[in-house]
Amino acid sequence: MKVLVSGAGIAGLTSAFWLTHYGFDVTVIERAPEIRDEGYMVDFYGEGVQIAKAMGILEKLYALSANLKTVDIVNNNSKIVGSMKISDIQKAMTDSNSGYMPLMRGHLERTIYEALPDQVKFHFATTITHIDNSPDAAKVTFSNGDTEEFDIVIGAEGIHSTTRTLIFGEEEKFKVSMDAQVAIVRLAGAANGNINVAKTNMAIGNFLATVPTKNGDLIAVFAYNSTAPTPRNHDDALAMLRKIYSPQKQFTNNIINQITDDTYIYIDEVAQIRMPKWCENRVALVGDASACLTLLSGQGSLMAMAESYILARELSLAKGDYKTAFKNYEKNLMPTIAQKAIDSAKVTILIPKNWLSYQMFKLIFRFMKFPMVQKMVFKQYMKPTIFDQGYPLENA
Ligand SMILES: Cc1cc2nc3c(=O)[nH]c(=O)nc-3n(C[C@H](O)[C@H](O)[C@H](O)COP(=O)(O)OP(=O)(O)OC[C@H]3O[C@@H](n4cnc5c(N)ncnc54)[C@H](O)[C@@H]3O)c2cc1C
Repeated sequence: MKVLVSGAGIAGLTSAFWLTHYGFDVTVIERAPEIRDEGYMVDFYGEGVQIAKAMGILEKLYALSANLKTVDIVNNNSKIVGSMKISDIQKAMTDSNSGYMPLMRGHLERTIYEALPDQVKFHFATTITHIDNSPDAAKVTFSNGDTEEFDIVIGAEGIHSTTRTLIFGEEEKFKVSMDAQVAIVRLAGAANGNINVAKTNMAIGNFLATVPTKNGDLIAVFAYNSTAPTPRNHDDALAMLRKIYSPQKQFTNNIINQITDDTYIYIDEVAQIRMPKWCENRVALVGDASACLTLLSGQGSLMAMAESYILARELSLAKGDYKTAFKNYEKNLMPTIAQKAIDSAKVTILIPKNWLSYQMFKLIFRFMKFPMVQKMVFKQYMKPTIFDQGYPLENA
């Protein structure tokens, strides 16, 4: 069977991996001219760790993850007011077998890409402009004007998926806004040799986290409440950051002042995608395209991997009966995702709403060394995974 995967992010690449493993003929298209290994640190645990192990890439990911030791909470003048050890998080996770590691999104994406067999065909700088999605075949028109028929099309284009819009309708129908935005920049060499400590500065309505990379760059993550439209270009994004963060003195100003005209700013809104179904005729959606839990949920990458694996496995089990495969894909995942969407809707508490919640955060950081506090804070990470609950996970 011929499968087209649109989008070479975590979901698209994981889909390509498992579909090829199960014997499908896979083509991947990606809008960007090459693999996009941007992004900051993602929480990686649970389903993600289990699937990475089954794919044979877990050890490589552990080796890439290692540098971070501490997360400090700092005040406006960069003075440490609370601190949390990564080993404490790992310990809490180990107790639950979750295998937590902080991982750069780009490292995860590149590692999956490098694990793909040669037979996966890639077309970069290419998008879908039209799909004739009939029970007989999915006839796809590409941005270069070419057309081709596929048995299955998988939309893995992230939260702003084009395939979703073409087949299911406008994004607004499925988007649940959290009235917040996240902007991420990478500042070359800005860690000044300190590659073990991440820092967070919180204020009412926003936070700024800085995370060092192994090679000494600093990833700065700005998260703030906003109902304004997401800025669409570099200058507007920078103006937004200056407006939101300017009252906060040294720590934030120091970071913002290092953003130059050449600094790429990744910016997007904090929103969920909630859909009543993920499949229509010969088209299925995976990852953020079908079930984004928000950029701040700490589960986007690992659930994208779980969805991609389960969809590929169900297609393999159904031996060409894609309708049955799609039904089982939705049946096995939708209840879990629906619950996670409810839980993740609370993530904007990470951005303090008022003085009281700001003080709460400082207290939590101060007492994080106590196992009871660790368990309270990380309880979402300790839930049994979909595989712990019985969905079979096969080794590649
Ligand atoms: C550049 C970038 C940086 C990110 N940084 C972080 C981060 O730091 N922390 C975090 O938690 N999450 C981050 N995310 C989101 C996170 O990767 C996802 O929540 C999660 O991994 C689910 O992945 P996904 O593959 O469904 O979507 P995504 O990771 O968004 O990948 C979608 C892919 O599809 C491509 N694409 C989009 N539209 C089209 C189209 N029309 N045709 C073809 N291809 C298309 C995109 O270029 C991208 O490669 C980032 C996403 C991107 C794209």
